[in-house]
Amino acid sequence: MSVSTGLSYLAIPGPSVVPDRVLRAMHRASPNIYEGELVEMVPGLIEGLKRVAGTQHHGAIYITNGHGTWEASLINTLAPGDKVLVPATGSFAHGWAGIARSLGIEVEILEFGKRAPVDPAALQARLAADSAHDIKAVLAVHTDTSTGIRSDIPAIRGAMDAAGHPALLMADCMASLGCDRFEMDAWGVDVTIAGSQKGLMMTPGLGFVFFNDKADGARDRLERVTNYWDWRPRTNPDVFYHYFSGTAPTQHLYGLAEALAMIEAETLEGVWARHGALAQAIWAAFDHWGSAGPLEINAPRGHRSHSVTALNAGSDKATALRKWCEAKAGLTLGIGLGMAEAGTPEWHHHFRLGHMGHVNGHMILGALATIEAGLKAVDLPHAPGGVVKAAEHLADAL
Ligand SMILES: *Cc1c(COP(=O)(O)O)cnc(C)c1O
Repeated sequence: MSVSTGLSYLAIPGPSVVPDRVLRAMHRASPNIYEGELVEMVPGLIEGLKRVAGTQHHGAIYITNGHGTWEASLINTLAPGDKVLVPATGSFAHGWAGIARSLGIEVEILEFGKRAPVDPAALQARLAADSAHDIKAVLAVHTDTSTGIRSDIPAIRGAMDAAGHPALLMADCMASLGCDRFEMDAWGVDVTIAGSQKGLMMTPGLGFVFFNDKADGARDRLERVTNYWDWRPRTNPDVFYHYFSGTAPTQHLYGLAEALAMIEAETLEGVWARHGALAQAIWAAFDHWGSAGPLEINAPRGHRSHSVTALNAGSDKATALRKWCEAKAGLTLGIGLGMAEAGTPEWHHHFRLGHMGHVNGHMILGALATIEAGLKAVDLPHAPGGVVKAAEHLADAL
């Protein structure tokens, strides 16, 4: 039998849980896109997004997913033949690098493997060696969703400054915006990209690109920026449709407005603190389970994301655990991504827990208790009582 009937919980690292409030806000007849409420609402939405990103500069909304924002960030700043440096701590850095290559951009990967953050000293050394300043941008992923590793963006900025290097700093905050502390302007980031479907608690479909005047200046020397991706009309529109290079994403914008209102009500500091406390509860559980068995959090301590945890089960039982949790208890865990080749036995060693956006104490404690039941059911060796450690952590922390 199963006990899965009831509220199901999609605990994968995006798309994340969409609050009922947001869904209800989207459930409406199509609004007029030429005048009225929707048209008047958009400038305020962009200001709200900029507050979440910690920037006073420019913000553009695209009807796209994260891949589209990867492309938008590059098309507006780099020309074919330009070179970028990509410090890599997982699959998503390689994904961004692949988009750059497809645009004719020369890519150099600075590889840190799957279990370590970006090392600022290595980055500084590489940039210092580039005395001709051939490298035009550093593409840094804040939280790599495949490995659960969060890199230190201020330290990356510091490395670039210490090397005296003028490259643009671009940050992929798809998995971290609205989860982990991020302050674009204070941290000296020139371009930030994010999307609607992770920490921002919305359905997939909206991509966000924030940029400062230095990044916009890089656009001046480009021969061509394709019309759809051009961020200038979107941030300085002559007519309303320029915001989206066409029809506005009508119902999505109402959902986004509701999600931003929820973040403002909780405050950004409150949102960050909630994600931090829940992440620590999750680590307490997994570290305890793993104290008597092979189960292990992939990311090293001190470099763990507050929005996603990647796990190694140490055997091929991760897939059985995922399937048990979903079929028996209504909890969907994420597959491992980029940790092992699909089709190999090792692929079944990995899974991920998404804890981004609309998550709270009882959801996380419920998910952890379900996982503990699953560990026992699939006979994955572990120290019983991880849930108690998580509960104790929250009791103390709150
Ligand atoms: C999810 C994600 C992306 C890609 O987003 P898509 O919407 O799947 O295109 C890019 N970077 C990071 C860090 C992500 O977590």
